[in-house]
Amino acid sequence: MGTKRSAIVTGSTSGIGQGIAIALMEAGHNVMLNGFGDKGEIEAFRAESAKKYDVKVAYSAADMTKPEEIAAMVAAATQEFGQVDILVNNAGIQHVAPIEEFPPEKWNAVLAINLTSAFHATRAVLPQMQQRGWGRIINVASAHGLVASAQKSAYVASKHGIVGFTKVTALENAEKGITCNAICPGWVLTPLVQKQIEARAAAHNWTIAEASRDLLSEKQPSKSFVQVEELGALAVFLSGELARSITGTTISMDGGWTAQ
Ligand code: NAD
Repeated sequence: MGTKRSAIVTGSTSGIGQGIAIALMEAGHNVMLNGFGDKGEIEAFRAESAKKYDVKVAYSAADMTKPEEIAAMVAAATQEFGQVDILVNNAGIQHVAPIEEFPPEKWNAVLAINLTSAFHATRAVLPQMQQRGWGRIINVASAHGLVASAQKSAYVASKHGIVGFTKVTALENAEKGITCNAICPGWVLTPLVQKQIEARAAAHNWTIAEASRDLLSEKQPSKSFVQVEELGALAVFLSGELARSITGTTISMDGGWTAQ
């Protein structure tokens, strides 16, 4: 096992963030969880994970739309673990509508959670990473950080934005032992995508299985969902010593989506 590190994974009470948190804990790292959900379930997951993986597991309920709560989350993790070595900016939401019907408050929420929260978390952890000369920042972008789809203006803008922010973070810290990269997943079957499958099924009077097949065949040549365990393994690799020269880049895990 490599060096034991301490991580924050935003939006880790569900889906991809939870998968990445589990993979980091399995690799022996302490993790601060974050995200919304049932308090009892979150506490049960926190306590069981700490026991199962024999690492420290903390939880912050910080709302990623609130800069002061993001700063407090970083301070709490630093207090709890002594330091934060790995930051995974993962929390994200989606809203689907044509631009002329897109509610401005939804635009603001998508940008705040998917993009601006990463700025606030990154600026809060960088000073301590710079001081120690070691850090790993992983931004969960999307295939939509590289290409677009209709009806997803805010999401695509936020994900292209975070790819740009990733590059700047990498450049400013290239000589400081800190890497910053963006992971770009294709379709992953999480609650965020389940909602889109249900909307598609309702619109066409299809079963969930038919709607899933349609969604995959439209964009993802592999025609199968990316699994959160695959994304977790990639995050663990990017967090390790041998990924020290990978910085400022995007790594697609999308079943061929962006090869087209
Ligand atoms: P999800 O809905 O399963 O999980 C989202 C997480 O973010 C949850 O833990 C939720 O509580 C948290 N969250 C939402 N709003 C928050 C807020 N204001 N403050 C704090 N936490 C908040 O979604 P997911 O599919 O696992 O998505 C995770 C990330 O992966 C997102 O950035 C998403 O854009 C990206 N992504 C998802 C897919 C996919 O196919 N599912 C593909 C590419 C990229």
